[in-house]
Amino acid sequence: MANVKEYSVEEKLSSLVSLQKIDSKLDEIQVLKGELPMEVSDLEDEIQGLHARQLRIEEEINGITEFIEQKKTAIKDALELEKKYEKQSENVKNNREFEAINKEIEMQQLEVKLCEKHIRDANEEIAEKAVALEKAKKAISSKEGVLNSKKGELEKIIATTEKEETHFNKLADSAKKHVDPRLHTSYDKIRNNYRNGLAVVPVERDACGGCFYSIPPQKQSEIKQRKKIMVCENCGRILVDSDLNDTVEVK
Ligand SMILES: [Zn+2]
Repeated sequence: MANVKEYSVEEKLSSLVSLQKIDSKLDEIQVLKGELPMEVSDLEDEIQGLHARQLRIEEEINGITEFIEQKKTAIKDALELEKKYEKQSENVKNNREFEAINKEIEMQQLEVKLCEKHIRDANEEIAEKAVALEKAKKAISSKEGVLNSKKGELEKIIATTEKEETHFNKLADSAKKHVDPRLHTSYDKIRNNYRNGLAVVPVERDACGGCFYSIPPQKQSEIKQRKKIMVCENCGRILVDSDLNDTVEVK
């Protein structure tokens, strides 16, 4: 086992402050990175959904176009039949036959009209779908623009934070060596309890810098003496005087 140097309370406190400041820097980096990857993946999901929508609309348009082609063929068939019946009507033998053929001709004319109406309706439907398709395509291109800029931003952050992160992680490792394990464990526990990750806070304007609970003058002077580790009775954070807090700089 290595020699364990006995540190004074003041030294312990200043090591804790420096560890806190380093960890806060690392927290800031995490916050910066933490939101962009989520935004990027949300955008990717949205774009994927829009592409699926685009594909669906295109398939619907294809389906309607096919329907129109079928109706066009049906019109052609009906017109041919009509022609055939008209030819037949030239050689009818009696009135009954003539009427029967006329009925067939009317049927074919009706069929043509019906098909034409179906085609008109289908064309209207296609026009509506085309508007929706255009909308989806525009949304895709605008979201893709946002995605690209967010991706670029994230890459830049990663490129710069990688260096910072390595740097602060190194500092954190060496700062940890100056904090005894028990103190470090409670420091970690307190840090994990709070979203802002603050376990060591200065007394500011007669109050705890973490929860703003007021600190009585007697306790404040004890804190200033740096002879004991003092904690806020409200939030449990380790308290240091603001002078000590200010002397510790982390770069
Ligand atoms: Zn507090």
